[in-house]
Amino acid sequence: MTETLTNRSLIDLDRDHLIHPVASFRGHEAHGARVLASGDGMWLTDIEGKRVIDAFAGLWCVNVGYGQDSIVEAAADQMRRLPYATGYFHFASEPAIRLAAELTALTPEGLNHVYFTQGGSESVDSAVRYIVHYFNAIGKPDKKEFIALEWGYHGSSAMGAGLTALANFHRGFDLPYKWQHHIASPYPYRHPQGHDDAAVIASTISALEAKVAEIGADKVAAFCCEPIQGSGGVIVPPVGWLKAIREACDRLGILLLVDEVITGFGRTGPLFACEAEGVTPDFMTTAKGLTAGYAPMGALFMADHIYQAIADASPLPVGHGGTYSGHPVSAAVGLEVLRLYREGGVLANGVMVGERFAARMEAIRSHPLVGDVRYRGLLGAIELVANKDTKEPFAADLSIGDRLSQMTWDNGVIARCFANAVIGFAPALTCTPDEMDIIFDRVQLCLDQLL
Ligand code: PMP
Repeated sequence: MTETLTNRSLIDLDRDHLIHPVASFRGHEAHGARVLASGDGMWLTDIEGKRVIDAFAGLWCVNVGYGQDSIVEAAADQMRRLPYATGYFHFASEPAIRLAAELTALTPEGLNHVYFTQGGSESVDSAVRYIVHYFNAIGKPDKKEFIALEWGYHGSSAMGAGLTALANFHRGFDLPYKWQHHIASPYPYRHPQGHDDAAVIASTISALEAKVAEIGADKVAAFCCEPIQGSGGVIVPPVGWLKAIREACDRLGILLLVDEVITGFGRTGPLFACEAEGVTPDFMTTAKGLTAGYAPMGALFMADHIYQAIADASPLPVGHGGTYSGHPVSAAVGLEVLRLYREGGVLANGVMVGERFAARMEAIRSHPLVGDVRYRGLLGAIELVANKDTKEPFAADLSIGDRLSQMTWDNGVIARCFANAVIGFAPALTCTPDEMDIIFDRVQLCLDQLL
């Protein structure tokens, strides 16, 4: 069908029929869809032949770059052999079992059980459900309140959107639910004592303690956080923050759910960001880099003691699941992606090119519009301001994100531009130092155009 359509008509068809996730319905009118046709390594080509460098790995997921033939082969092979197998009723497929075993050998120690989902939102929802099941199993059914962070993002399903603390995900739905609470984010740039790591860490811990005291420790089930807050604007807490959180959760008798949907799979250097802090959460949610965007899949990891308690409590089925849990094609993709990360040298390259990323991020710090530069591994952002001394926001108008996004696109680079004038970067771990330079040269051009 596409052969009979002109480029223009694809854009018209998009405007008339396709609803885009997390986008203004009127964006169609502003600039029309950017219709992507093919990808190769770090590069994307649209239907008009425009080539752009992708500094955002799709949506922080294509960590191994586009055009990895071995993944295509793995998927095709599995599709021919067995395209679908349910996980219900104790059926399974070989790739799902192998992926579960390989992944749990790599997660922080003690996270030996995995539930496969279709993506990040379902991983978070599943974590909430299993946490409540756990507290029922150990005879503490009142523990069902959750605490999360302002600026956090945990998906757009109802439960995940409630744990999220971004207003446009709540609007119209009376979210968060009454069992969902938020405390201040460890946002160093906008924190009154942001220059002092220990003070930033202490402020989250005391906010958590106060919130638990307010709700009642016998009612709070878990604290949920991202190691680095992605969709809130790549907010990087100080080193040691997550470890302090782990200790506080233990002290307060609540579980820790770490959402590694963005930070997992080498994005910040190690396979999981928890590793760098020596933290083992009780639950860890992942998606994106698990299959590097080549197939939809998420994974929820559960600690042994939780699994055992749920198993001991009842022989009855746990009422939670979905048609595509452990999908064999996604699992086959996941196995090959995992091989590329480790034996294919992708993780190692990510760490190597991370040095060029850091150098270019540091260099852009002196630009007159750049108020803050924050990063870890290959995840980072710059925050634009109107005044570097007062940190006055760059623009009051929330459409600045859209405008920056258009500007970067026009300059041949895809980055994530947020409504608070933050430009986020998450290039594939396969990026070369030269490609990193192209990204930053182009971003520099955009910034200069704004002067
Ligand atoms: N948690 C986090 C931390 C995320 O960044 C995202 C997606 N950006 C989600 C959950 C939801 O994942 P998905 O879009 O795959 O449902």
